[in-house]
Amino acid sequence: MSTIIFPSPIYGPVHSRRLGLSLGINLMPADGKICTFDCIYCECGFNKDHHTHTHHPSREEVAEALARQLEKMHNDGEHPDVLTFAGNGEPTSNPHFPEIIDDTIRLRDKWCPDAKISVLSNSTFIGHERTRQALMKVDNNILKLDTVDADYIQLTDRPAQPSYDVMKVIENMKLFNGHVIIQTMFMKGTTVDRKGQTVSVDNTSDRYVEPWLEAVKAIKPQGVMVYTIDRETPDHNLCKATHEELDSIRDRVVAAGFPCTASY
Ligand code: SF4
Repeated sequence: MSTIIFPSPIYGPVHSRRLGLSLGINLMPADGKICTFDCIYCECGFNKDHHTHTHHPSREEVAEALARQLEKMHNDGEHPDVLTFAGNGEPTSNPHFPEIIDDTIRLRDKWCPDAKISVLSNSTFIGHERTRQALMKVDNNILKLDTVDADYIQLTDRPAQPSYDVMKVIENMKLFNGHVIIQTMFMKGTTVDRKGQTVSVDNTSDRYVEPWLEAVKAIKPQGVMVYTIDRETPDHNLCKATHEELDSIRDRVVAAGFPCTASY
């Protein structure tokens, strides 16, 4: 298995562990990856290894490709459970993201009205009003919050912006008034930090889970998804959290009053 660069702007449908039969919408170029994070576990690989030489698909290109694929699936009797914005990077960084959401809602209502629209986002643009308004329109606004520990984020999610502040992100998540699903990667292993030192990564212990759970309670999401590594990672010294660890974290979220799924 190796890391994946997805076709653009439409790929699949694919069977997703968490979402069902999912038609992918990739708002990044097809020849590489563009992301405001550079996660050491990213299934697309490291940013530096996948520079792009083409541009983002336009609003019109996305709408035309999506309409074609939805019409084909409709004619074949294939019904997607979900239209999922994901792929080679951060979907909300596409400058036309809000308009593309409007087009997608229109096409979903025409061809597959039972399908949900999901956006998988790393949360770095939710401070922008137009992005927040667009995310309020989708069924599943799935936002990444791997931890509230700033050092762990720098080690594992590696935000591109020096100004990235997880506390500000949590404040912005509260502005969705519950219209948000928190998605958190739990994993273990070692990595090499920015100073070249080999260091442990493990966000499954109480030191990480307790403050993260307090943030979840403050955000009051409609749900939480905890998961672990499923594919090859660009950093080869990472490993899965165990079933028992994920189940224990899930149970603590449920005990706090929020629906939670664990994917292994
Ligand atoms: S936020 Fe998602 S796309 Fe971006 S680097 Fe992390 S895992 Fe990859």
